[in-house]
Amino acid sequence: MLSDKELQGLRQKHLGPSLKLAYEKPIHIVRGEGQYLFDADGHQYLDCVNNVQHVGHCHPKVVAAARKQYGALSTNTRYLDDTIVRYAKGLSETLPDGLDVCFFTNSGSEANDLALRLARNFTGSKETIVFASAYHGHLSSLIEISPYKHSGPGGSGPPDFVHVVPAPDQFRGQFRGLGSSEQYVREFKQVVDQIKGARHQLSAFFVEAMMGCGGQIPVPEQFLRSAFALAKNSGAVCIADEVQVGFGRVGSHYWAFEKCGVVPDIVTMGKSMGNGHPISAVVTTGEIADAFNNGMEYFNTFGGNPVSCSVGLAVLDVIRDEGLQDNAFEVGSHLLDQLTHLKSKHDLIGDVRGAGLFIGVELVNDGVTLQPATNEANVLVNIMKEKGFLLSSDGPDQNVIKIKPPMVFNEENAEVLVNTIDEVLPLVIQISSTVDYN
Ligand code: PMP
Repeated sequence: MLSDKELQGLRQKHLGPSLKLAYEKPIHIVRGEGQYLFDADGHQYLDCVNNVQHVGHCHPKVVAAARKQYGALSTNTRYLDDTIVRYAKGLSETLPDGLDVCFFTNSGSEANDLALRLARNFTGSKETIVFASAYHGHLSSLIEISPYKHSGPGGSGPPDFVHVVPAPDQFRGQFRGLGSSEQYVREFKQVVDQIKGARHQLSAFFVEAMMGCGGQIPVPEQFLRSAFALAKNSGAVCIADEVQVGFGRVGSHYWAFEKCGVVPDIVTMGKSMGNGHPISAVVTTGEIADAFNNGMEYFNTFGGNPVSCSVGLAVLDVIRDEGLQDNAFEVGSHLLDQLTHLKSKHDLIGDVRGAGLFIGVELVNDGVTLQPATNEANVLVNIMKEKGFLLSSDGPDQNVIKIKPPMVFNEENAEVLVNTIDEVLPLVIQISSTVDYN
């Protein structure tokens, strides 16, 4: 086996330098099982962050489904095949009535790009509203609608058809506190009115009901209901990006948008959908799909192939058979309670938020100014790795610790994670004052 040093040398030589490694001292993982990962030296890590391996690393039923179908047949959507229709039906059954037409793609970005095409075709317009700090993917069309990228390092801002509204972050956003929803709605309405005033048609409101890269921010229910109504009344479609948060992760519901009592016109999904196998989808209404059927064929070489669909079906079965949504609710609620208790003990923790197994812990250096504790977040993630826990930090200020483990994460895992964070926080403050990891 190549040494870590050799691997890093080869990466440097042969991979694009904008591909980054996690952690100050990168890790070389060679095996995964359930919620655990193992490195080349045999060290075990509790995976608290890889939401893609939704039903657990290398789940035997998912691996068996892939192996069986790959050994039998892998073609494309131009042939009759029962895996694709069974999977499309299975996905539709998890969604509200009317969302029952599926397009299969290969990544979250590809799904979101297709969602944009569907919306633009349906409304005859490109005008799109997104949240500040939202991330929707890495394709050119998605960098345009992702302030997380186009307004960050190396970015060149949004094009004129992209309208950025404040993210309804009730902790450090433009308006703060539980009662701030109305103020965010007013800002949203102002943008909708501006677009109308300029005699433009709004095409889409593109939104994650629980923001991921934007800093693990649950969008307030009342805000989302009002924003959906405003967007829909102006003839736009609402697109729910469930790439990070779908498939029962939020615990109380299968889809994060359902928590807010809204029904989107288009839903995109990916990441966890194939438990690590690259598969994603766009699900929409018959009306939107029919309008897209304008003579130009939609063909996707790999999207919807029988192997991917078999894997996707196995993931749906495991979520149901193992009660993983309920597990996310129970373990996640317990974890949220315990982390909230930690907040009362450590000034560095400014906010604890989330739902199910999608939790954010925001670190601040000052409880009044909310100065982001970016270096501390980085130090914490690195110390936790040394102690055998994989976490990451994100958000516009890179000061939010993300917790989004495989859904088989259990109460014992939650307990040991919280106890270890409790233990290392004083050390984090001490080290951060001498080492700058940024
Ligand atoms: N949407 C959201 C909300 C995401 O978090 C991501 C990936 N982080 C994407 C889309 C893009 O997915 P992919 O990397 O599979 O293209």
